[in-house]
Amino acid sequence: MRVVALKEGADFDGWRQAARTLLLDEVPPEKVTWLVTGEASLLPDHDAPTAQASARPAPRIPAEFLGLMQSLICHSDPQRYGLAYRLLWRLTHGERQLLQLITDADVMRARNAEKNVRRDSHKMKAFVRFREVKAADGEPVGAFANNSVFIAWFEPSHYIVERVAPFFVRRFTGMRWSILTPYRSAHWDGETLSFSAGATKADAPSEDVLEDYWRTYYASIFNPARLKVQAMQSEMPVKYWKNLPEAQLIPSLIREARPRTLAMVEAEATTPKKRFAAPELRSAVVQPQGSLAELRAQARDCRGCALWQPATQTVFGEGPEHAQLMLVGEQPGDQEDLAGRPFIGPAGRLLDKALLEAGLDRKTLYVTNAVKHFKFTARNIFRQHQGANAEEQRACRPWLQAEIQRVRPKLILCLGATAASNLIAADFPLLAQRGQWHRWPDGTQLMATVHPSYLLRLKEPAARARETAAFVQDLRRVAEILTAA
Ligand code: SF4
Repeated sequence: MRVVALKEGADFDGWRQAARTLLLDEVPPEKVTWLVTGEASLLPDHDAPTAQASARPAPRIPAEFLGLMQSLICHSDPQRYGLAYRLLWRLTHGERQLLQLITDADVMRARNAEKNVRRDSHKMKAFVRFREVKAADGEPVGAFANNSVFIAWFEPSHYIVERVAPFFVRRFTGMRWSILTPYRSAHWDGETLSFSAGATKADAPSEDVLEDYWRTYYASIFNPARLKVQAMQSEMPVKYWKNLPEAQLIPSLIREARPRTLAMVEAEATTPKKRFAAPELRSAVVQPQGSLAELRAQARDCRGCALWQPATQTVFGEGPEHAQLMLVGEQPGDQEDLAGRPFIGPAGRLLDKALLEAGLDRKTLYVTNAVKHFKFTARNIFRQHQGANAEEQRACRPWLQAEIQRVRPKLILCLGATAASNLIAADFPLLAQRGQWHRWPDGTQLMATVHPSYLLRLKEPAARARETAAFVQDLRRVAEILTAA
């Protein structure tokens, strides 16, 4: 049995060095024990590879894998180093496509860890609150115009301080600050970012004059009529409240929300501000004509419904002109709208992996959507997807029909209820009839399955694994028919 001792926190470099040595010595994962923190002082440094092993070339590792490992090793799971090495071992021992197996237990665990670390990093960026303290000598410090130092206390769920600290350097370059956490502290002196041991909450100041600004700001943006306690708690989980000055207001704001809303309803209507006239809506019946390339060009200027206005561009289908299989989704999302290509965002990436696992090559498929413009509502800086209504779907249908007529696929796979209700039946019961084949009079066969974004929305890992496996199974059935055709 080989024993590897690593530093507390996210010791990616230590893991990488040890993993390389173990790999060159051909030590399988079950023969390695990974230890962290104080145990390190009792154990020898990582062994050097034997001379014979050193002579062997180190295996080539995909960049995607290293990125995934950098996140995984920030996770607080005590088994993370063992999991990372097991994945590395499998990847270099005949499973080159391992990361594409989205239903594999190890891959799923690593991907979930990556997601949790990303979420924790996001929360740290959102919920760190600096408090101002004055330097003891009262003199300006270094390049700074005043003698203030800003200190924040934060309790991350994972080992993310080193990963997130550069964000605060970029954001608060002109401040001198420290972020204290239980396992590590980050410090910026205006020139250098450094790290020291963890701290306790008592080491950070508990109150400063900025608190009132936070509270005033928060109270002024709080809209009692739009209170959704569950959504609020998912955006700002209760565990962070104790370190947020504005969180003290939340219970009373929630308590007062209903009476305030009733008072707003009772109050007399005010005269709305005068607005500028909205630009004239140029809508026209869609009449596609010509080849697929000509259709794509015409669709760029489509004004068949109002969705073209806020969207960036038309997102037309893409793929070989005579593809045997056509995939039809609902509508482009945020990233597709910006790039002008279908299925390239998170749902598209999931779809690509599932296709690969089912033995289908996306390059041979025609991929499109029932509606060609992104419909959304703006929430702060985010654009949140909104389903196209029946009228918008109807207005856009000629484009989809024209694509089908030009490509003439043998099979059409509807991804989600919107595509199925446009192509199979208006009231198509997706869950009841998913995976069943339907046939048009011209012989085209159609099947419906879930949209990949549905899988992304499943929070519970077991449910997501089960549904993803079922999705891949649906794709395999399509692949089988395609091969037999
Ligand atoms: S959604 Fe469809 S019908 Fe509406 S403007 Fe866009 S392309 Fe035209």
